[in-house]
Amino acid sequence: MSHLFRCLPSVDVCLTALLERAPELHAQPRPLLREAVTAYWDGQRADIRAGRVTEPEQLALDAHLPLLLAHVRAALRSRLRPVINATGVVVHTNMGRSVLAPEACEAVLRAAQGYSTLELDLRTGGRGSRHALVEELICRLTGAEAAMTVNNNAAAVLLVLDTFCRGGEVVVSRGELVEIGGSFRIPEVMAKSGATLREVGATNRTHLRDYAAAINEQTRALMRVHTSNYRIVGFHSAVPLEELVALARRHDLPVFEDLGSGSLTDFSACGLPNEPTVPSVLAAGADIVTFSGDKVLGGPQAGIIAGSRERIAALKANQLTRALRCDKLTLAALEATLRLYCEPERARERIPTLRMIFLPPEALARSARRLASRLRRVLGDACRIRLREDVSRVGGGAFPQYDLPTTLVCLEPAVCSAVELRRRLLDGDPPLVGRLDEQGFCLDPRTLCEHDHARVAALLRAALTERIEP
Ligand SMILES: *Cc1c(COP(=O)(O)O)cnc(C)c1O
Repeated sequence: MSHLFRCLPSVDVCLTALLERAPELHAQPRPLLREAVTAYWDGQRADIRAGRVTEPEQLALDAHLPLLLAHVRAALRSRLRPVINATGVVVHTNMGRSVLAPEACEAVLRAAQGYSTLELDLRTGGRGSRHALVEELICRLTGAEAAMTVNNNAAAVLLVLDTFCRGGEVVVSRGELVEIGGSFRIPEVMAKSGATLREVGATNRTHLRDYAAAINEQTRALMRVHTSNYRIVGFHSAVPLEELVALARRHDLPVFEDLGSGSLTDFSACGLPNEPTVPSVLAAGADIVTFSGDKVLGGPQAGIIAGSRERIAALKANQLTRALRCDKLTLAALEATLRLYCEPERARERIPTLRMIFLPPEALARSARRLASRLRRVLGDACRIRLREDVSRVGGGAFPQYDLPTTLVCLEPAVCSAVELRRRLLDGDPPLVGRLDEQGFCLDPRTLCEHDHARVAALLRAALTERIEP
């Protein structure tokens, strides 16, 4: 056995051979390359010990080079990789939520490549405020007096409660104490602020009198949380914001609204219900509204806080703000995204999240037909392909249960199960993520662009026909 171990090629010999075969590996950090090569041969060492490798010829580098190269490439691939989203879920938290508009991408690149006015006041040459970069735009688009941004909406909620409710009570309806996913629970984030949650009402019904009964000397605010990711149907009632505001005013208390998705767009044109928009919530009298930058707004991850001048000033002065602030790349992307909103038509054309939500069913049906005929050409009889009318979801906890009509391309592979096809596609480069249901593996054209079609076809062909069985 020991003579076999001596036959293993040295790391240096392997590296030379690899770099000759794949010169692009020169760009990779040498220590990582060496580790990947070592790990590959460790696998062979285990095979020798287990008696699976018995002849020196089985260890020849030439024979191993293709597998070694595949192993090294996989080991050195960046962990944050692009994927193709064919699920039709537009704001998919697992896949990075919103795709940025080209204008936002350019702004990120500009901010990344050089120094910038992040906190530089050009009038004085001294220190400026990063909050000022997008404040004017947010005010213009929402009607708020003042605004600021933090790292995400969870941070926004935490900051608001820490600033105004620490040591006191905040009244919130039991039906709104939601878990957002990734086990982020509104009640727990709120509790971190040091405020005590005073839950009122029942899960499905809360009345104004429930809020009124909960108010005492400890009360610092009334809070509403948008029930983003679920919908109560049937016997249900919530208090209209106007009535809550009137009650709060009588007790000299503020009303905070966590809008979650926070849209600036009226989505009723594409059949979605008339959800409250940020301007409508502020107009109804909410003192502060918080919402996400990367849900239906279609921008970068951020928490946007809009409200009255004094309240925003108090938030900016909280030391916690320093720990929750946005970085320059986020602010660059957010500014460019918000700028597009100044012309709503343009926002719908340029912001991918909005464009995908607004895609008309006819365009999706055409797109599905084109994709299906391409796949039939490329895949032959490796797969049965049909079209099916179905629905897409906005995702990101926005518009739960509301359906956006679409046409799916459904695949029933002949060579393996749909579950196995899904697994193979996740293993592809780039990984392709689709939908698995009782009837097979489906692709929703809503979240694919036309130039993804060729790549989708190539990935499917690789998954169904070029597979080497282990
Ligand atoms: C999504 C959501 C949050 C969390 O927002 P992030 O930007 O993901 O931190 C908080 N509240 C509600 C109601 C939400 O929908």
